[in-house]
Amino acid sequence: MFGFLKKVGDYTRDAAGAAQYMTQGLAVTFDHLRRRPVTVQYPYEKLIPSERYRGRIHYELDKCISCEVCVRVCPINLPVVDWVMNKATKKKELRNYSIDFGVCIFCGNCVEYCPTNCLSMTEEYELAAFDRHSLNYDNVALGRLPTSVTSDPAVQPLRELVYLPKGAVDPHGVPDSEPRAGRLPEQVLETLPKIDPPAATPAPTPEEKG
Ligand code: SF4
Ligand code: SF4
Repeated sequence: MFGFLKKVGDYTRDAAGAAQYMTQGLAVTFDHLRRRPVTVQYPYEKLIPSERYRGRIHYELDKCISCEVCVRVCPINLPVVDWVMNKATKKKELRNYSIDFGVCIFCGNCVEYCPTNCLSMTEEYELAAFDRHSLNYDNVALGRLPTSVTSDPAVQPLRELVYLPKGAVDPHGVPDSEPRAGRLPEQVLETLPKIDPPAATPAPTPEEKG
């Protein structure tokens, strides 16, 4: 009889403990419901890509010297540099330049090594197409100015975490006027004490030289 009552008591205590833990868990869950969702509501809201974002490549035909360095440093030898040698001028004449973005891995090697800086990475990442062959961009398509998240009136641009003011973790509701955390190099320089340059020592006269 005593053993049975003890089992009933233990069972009741365990049930009460379980109910307490469930209540605590549900309280935490319902507390999350009160918080503002951090979801970025694409396509009405878009994150602004970072300064060194590696998006669609931009190309300037008139700066290209057909050296093919971009092809050699590309892990898949992707850029197609179509040139002919002009025997009269002994110079390469560029006919066409193309990159297939269905194959490109956006590593940025070609941009890093181009000696004339005619290649650059843009912040454009919406390159979806129905026909994969249309991802093969020629020099005209590569030379088009990139679309920008910040200049699209239909889009609410949001800053990424590293561009938010100090202490902010959610870009929603952060005004554009709030500067990002950290200081620019020139702002750091302004805080440093000014040091006067050393006075120039006069050049020795011929007599002093002996
Ligand atoms: S980004 Fe990389 S993969 Fe794409 S063309 Fe340039 S080097 Fe090749
Ligand atoms: S590395 Fe630059 S200059 Fe040379 S072929 Fe490629 S795009 Fe043209």
